[in-house]
Amino acid sequence: MTREELMKIVSERVEKCTACPLWEKRTNVVVGEGSLFAPIMFVGEGPGEEEDKTGRPFVGKAGQLLTKILESVQLRREDVYICNVVKCRPPENRVPTAEEQKACGHFLYAQIMIVDPVYIVPLGSTALSFFLGQNVSITEYRGKEIEWKGGKILFPMFHPSYLLRNPSKEKGSPKDLTWQDIKKVRMFYDSCKRR
Ligand code: SF4
Repeated sequence: MTREELMKIVSERVEKCTACPLWEKRTNVVVGEGSLFAPIMFVGEGPGEEEDKTGRPFVGKAGQLLTKILESVQLRREDVYICNVVKCRPPENRVPTAEEQKACGHFLYAQIMIVDPVYIVPLGSTALSFFLGQNVSITEYRGKEIEWKGGKILFPMFHPSYLLRNPSKEKGSPKDLTWQDIKKVRMFYDSCKRR
């Protein structure tokens, strides 16, 4: 089966999924988008209002900022793969519970198997905690390369919604650190010659 066919199966299963209470209020599921051959996968926490409306990941204000961050190093959204830990919007944009993340996590694992990225960029504490299996702070880990399962490397970055709340560009600010991080992501991208 091709990657497209496999991802279609995942999408169909997500669309029918009622494994956690988040399905009840969703307008659309948000599976993910981008290249199925991307060497880098960005993983956020869960869909917000705009994402729920459109069925696309990272298209609201935070998503637009993520797009700009990518473009600042000449990366397009379609050069990478973008998705979330949970595929349905948590009410009022609350953090998805541990049970919801657990119920949904196998879809993300399937996406990782299909796309097979070299680097995974968890955006924010929730996504990073999901990957590490324990509650951790993004502030402590951002910008660090962490070996993960199957030889994959985690490279956590701040969630763009955190940057919207902290707009300062001063040296050492979250935005300044993100600029340093995305330059590294660009380096990683260039180093992935395998595809
Ligand atoms: S969030 Fe995930 S597990 Fe919960 S209903 Fe949606 S697709 Fe299913």
